[in-house]
Order: sequence, then C-alpha cells, then structure tokens
Amino acid sequence: MEPVVELQHITHVYVSDREASLALDGLDLKVFPGEFVSLVGPSGCGKTTLLSIVAGLLNPTKGGVFVYGRKVEGPTPEVGYMLQQDYLFPWRTIFENASIGLELTGRLDDKQLTRTSSLLEEMGLEEAKNMYPQQLSGGMRQRVALVRTLSTDPGLLLLDEPFSALDYQTKLQLEDLISETLREKNKTAILVTHDLSEAVAVSDRVIVLGSHPGKIRRTFQVPEHIRLARPLVAREQSGFNELFHEIWREMESAGDKE
Ligand code: ADP
Ligand code: MG
Repeated sequence: MEPVVELQHITHVYVSDREASLALDGLDLKVFPGEFVSLVGPSGCGKTTLLSIVAGLLNPTKGGVFVYGRKVEGPTPEVGYMLQQDYLFPWRTIFENASIGLELTGRLDDKQLTRTSSLLEEMGLEEAKNMYPQQLSGGMRQRVALVRTLSTDPGLLLLDEPFSALDYQTKLQLEDLISETLREKNKTAILVTHDLSEAVAVSDRVIVLGSHPGKIRRTFQVPEHIRLARPLVAREQSGFNELFHEIWREMESAGDKE
C-alpha cells in the first residue's frame, strides 16, 4: 500500500543570527491511508516542526517529504491543518468562517456551500450558522475550525493539540466527534497531543519522540479492540491502562534526556 505521508531522513535546523539549533534529526515516518497516528513527546521535541514540514509550510533542511507520493513543495488543498487556537475571524459569521477555505481556493459554488452547511449540521452547529465566533463556547469554536478544515475535503488532516485549550468534558466529546468523523470519512490523520490517554484512545499508532534533537524513540501499536472502540469506551478496555503506563514510562525517559 502506498503511504499517504512519507518522511525520508528529515533533518531540520533552525538558524538565527546567533545560533543554529537542530530540531529534527534524520526522522523517518510513513503513514498509511485511513491511519490515525499520534505524536507525543516532551515540549520542544519538534512535533510542530514535523507537522509544518508535512503541511509544506516549512522546508526541511535535509530529507524528502512526500504526500500521496508527490514531493511536498508548499501547502496543497489535500492537506488540512487544525491548531490549538481556532483562528476564527471575529467579523465573519460561523458559516463565513467555515467556508473561508473554499473561498480562498476559488471553489465557492453552490454544491460546496451545501456541503459546508451539512458539515455544520453534522457537528451540531446548525443553529450557530449566522452567529459570530464570540457568541460561541470554546468547544463550539473548535467544531467550526474542524468544519473549516474539512470543507475543502482534504484526505490528510494534521491536528496540532486541537483539544488542549478545552475543559475536560468538552475535550472528551470533541475527541469522540473528531475521531468518529475522520473514520467515517476515511481520512488519514496525524495528531500532536501531550495527553497520553487521548493518544491511546483515538489512535492506531502512538509515536514517542525524544528531544534535542527530535527523533523517534519508540512506536506503539494500539491493539485492535482499543482502536475500534470509540475514544470514551476505549479508555475502559482491558489493556488500556497497561499501554498508557508503558508509553508514560517511555515519555519519562525521553524527558530525562533533556
Ligand atoms: P514541539 O511542538 O514538540 O513543542 P517545536 O517543533 O515547536 O516543538 O520546536 C522544536 C525545537 O525547535 C524547539 O527547541 C524550539 O525552541 C525550536 N524552534 C521551533 N520553532 C523555531 C523557530 N521558528 N526558530 C528557532 N527555533 C525554533
Ligand atoms: Mg508544538
């Protein structure tokens, strides 16, 4: 099977006028169609750098990046990016915010607008369409950001801590909604999170990165009975806690190396 994402020996060095810092060091990664992969690791280990490289927003110092078999040379509509902060425009309605990607890529036709409307409905935002972002709760705003990301129908989603600014209950609900939506739409996803229980509950594979420089330390496959369960139910499955603690220990030793 052809991977959706392939990173070949990615090295990235940030250079400023005073110093050069090695953020990623010879990292290899393949993500396959429909897979949900989580990246965890200490703060500063290069998770955001890695996503920016896959998104085509940052050109790696060395190595090859391929998305759907094509060399990444800049952002493409096949890749959707969702961040911790929702970046909704306060002067645009929810509908106008959700459809901005279509507008920017010149695809704002009736068919796409209808699709955006039904995505908003799927996310429980029908009533909010004509409201403004400041009228919405944090969880609702993140759902709008998800619709905006999905509106252009990218096959690959990059999620950089999209739940971390939310309260615990909202976060659990949104995890569930996102993971079910992506599975149902057969999307491929890479999630960055610092919440290990979230990583185990939503992913097929959890990758632990170590820092200085950023490298893959270990990859954990999530067993099928946990993978197939919805995130809330996954947390109650046998073996969940054992896997959580195993990843936790790996993370702790990753942190020791700092
Ligand atoms: P993470 O998302 O895992 O917290 P980042 O990818 O943001 O890590 O950062 C990895 C390393 O690169 C850190 O040491 C960080 O300080 C450094 N870094 C990130 N962005 C820049 C930048 N624009 N210029 C210089 N150094 C950076
Ligand atoms: Mg980050």
